[in-house]
Amino acid sequence: MMDMKITDLKCTVVEGYPIVRIDTDEGISGLSQLEFNRDYNKPQVLFYKRFLLGQDPRNVERVMLRIRHLGGFKPWGSAVSAIEVALWDIAGKAAGLPVYRLLGGKIRDRVRVYNTGTGPGPKGWAPEDYAESARKKKSLPEGFTIFKYAIGFHGRMFAQVPGSFYGEPEEGYRLRGHVTERGLKHAINCIRALKEVFGDECGLAIDCGPGFSPQAALSLAKAVEPLNLLWLEDLITGDYTPYTAVEAFRLVSSNTTTPIHTGEQIYLRYGFKDLIEKNAVDVIGPDPLDDGGIAELKWIAEFADLHGILIAPHGVGDGMIGLAALIQVCATLPQNYIAFEMPRLDSFWYEIVEGLPNPLVKEGFIEVPDKPGLGVELNEKALRKRLPEGDDFLS
Ligand SMILES: [Mg+2]
Repeated sequence: MMDMKITDLKCTVVEGYPIVRIDTDEGISGLSQLEFNRDYNKPQVLFYKRFLLGQDPRNVERVMLRIRHLGGFKPWGSAVSAIEVALWDIAGKAAGLPVYRLLGGKIRDRVRVYNTGTGPGPKGWAPEDYAESARKKKSLPEGFTIFKYAIGFHGRMFAQVPGSFYGEPEEGYRLRGHVTERGLKHAINCIRALKEVFGDECGLAIDCGPGFSPQAALSLAKAVEPLNLLWLEDLITGDYTPYTAVEAFRLVSSNTTTPIHTGEQIYLRYGFKDLIEKNAVDVIGPDPLDDGGIAELKWIAEFADLHGILIAPHGVGDGMIGLAALIQVCATLPQNYIAFEMPRLDSFWYEIVEGLPNPLVKEGFIEVPDKPGLGVELNEKALRKRLPEGDDFLS
């Protein structure tokens, strides 16, 4: 078989989302993207071009061995991860097969998603605000079966609710500090208000931090035990934290029945190794656009399953191409899979990317498409209108 060669790597930024294209000498291009708000990662994406030119993109792992060591925790693993996804897109298109077939085949025909960013969020930080949002989201036409809400340090609730923690609520700080009794009660009341709306008809997950002390994290987790939450996320570290707090998470998770979740910022299987081997959390949430890619995510999921740990991949900022990648890999994950986080899709995505079913989400699930690669193509005419002047992405 003749080698296929990578001839170019391009990156442009649309509405804050870097979009990546890898070209080959056979006219097949691979698509990918980075998470929202990552325009600063564009030069980093282009930096890897020197390592890719002339390589056969179908040998995904062989290409990745050239660049994987040049990444890190979020946001510095996202360029490497995006390139991995584009390579799979090329490999699939070249073989005429969907990516899930190259990953070993699917074990589900539709994948469950959970809702964080679709529909109206709470207008304020009071329990009634949460309940109002929950009522509206529960009746969305997509029929989501799992919802996630931000409380505590996440979404900066504790910066807005006076006296909720012993720390500096200043803008620009990474909030962290021990939570007061008032802060704890407020968080619990908001969770209770959500649960009153969702009952046992829908799963409820709560994104909490990072920033909790292990002591306050445990108090919260124990207080909400009767509510049977799906998980409490990123209590101690997470989000953009450039390390994991394995011992602190283990202290919390081993002393409560409330499932504890983290992992959206973690790079590579090695980053997850201690968390998983020490059973420090109950659910992990790697993001394929930050963890090193989709084959990496599958490996992490299998390793977690060996240890009795569940998986609910992150993705709220992953856009339409990231969504396509999430669908392909999540179709292949073992039965520790719960659901992945549905990306927030502003209307421009439906103009510039084609190929996914419309409507996308039915009864809380997305059907796995059978088109080659990731199953998506750019609408170049629509994209051209959104490119900055002089941008060479489509040339
Ligand atoms: Mg999160």
